[in-house]
Amino acid sequence: MRKRVVAGNWKMNKTLNEGLALASEVVNMVNDELTDDVSVILCTPFVHLSQVSRIVEGSDKVFLAAQNVSEHPSGAYTGDISVDMIKSVGATHVILGHSERREYHNETNSQLAARVDLALNNGLGPIFCCGESLEIREEGNHVRFVTNQLEESLFHLSEDDITKVVIAYEPIWAIGTGVTASTEQAQEMHKAIREFLANKYGADIANEISILYGGSCKPSNAPELFAQADVDGGLIGGASLKSRDFVDIAKSY
Ligand code: PEP
Repeated sequence: MRKRVVAGNWKMNKTLNEGLALASEVVNMVNDELTDDVSVILCTPFVHLSQVSRIVEGSDKVFLAAQNVSEHPSGAYTGDISVDMIKSVGATHVILGHSERREYHNETNSQLAARVDLALNNGLGPIFCCGESLEIREEGNHVRFVTNQLEESLFHLSEDDITKVVIAYEPIWAIGTGVTASTEQAQEMHKAIREFLANKYGADIANEISILYGGSCKPSNAPELFAQADVDGGLIGGASLKSRDFVDIAKSY
């Protein structure tokens, strides 16, 4: 059975001390309150990773992710962070292809394919983001656009490797806008993604892959989103910055 995952993307928020306080609150609440089988992942800024890893290391439910990684293993790439560096500070996962990286840093599907490989070859679990703009949805091309992102960045992977990827469907028009996809819109896309994976890898493998929803998810709408058959959890932005809201979302199954 596929894993349920709730990941919190802090983006470029929280000073180190604020981040350490938030991480401690989340770990304590998860330990005290989260009885369901849900993996919680904190996706912190790079500079927080090494100290947050000490806070999460005692927990069997809370894991740590970076928000990006270079496609180069090492070298003269000023300002970039390598997969070895991320692993060396205790992260187990990495977000790849967030729409903000695609938009502001022109990250492409082929560049992301290389990052997915590097992450997997070095034992980091990719949280691979995909999602369409409002314009593409209004044209009716949203499913084709998203499945193309998956095809170009993930479909070179072996059966074994694809099951190590967590996919996060994040419609761009819902990220940070307060507008959430309806349960029907979310389920339609998640089902289409799973069918697309099944066509390539077979239904058994497609059923093992966790597909998260992201986009203005909050405690009030998480229960109905997570109740959809193909929604296996969430990638949470704004609401992950408040420990109570974030843990309540993780408890929404
Ligand atoms: C995100 O950026 O991954 C996200 C889902 O943000 P928000 O929850 O704030 O819409």
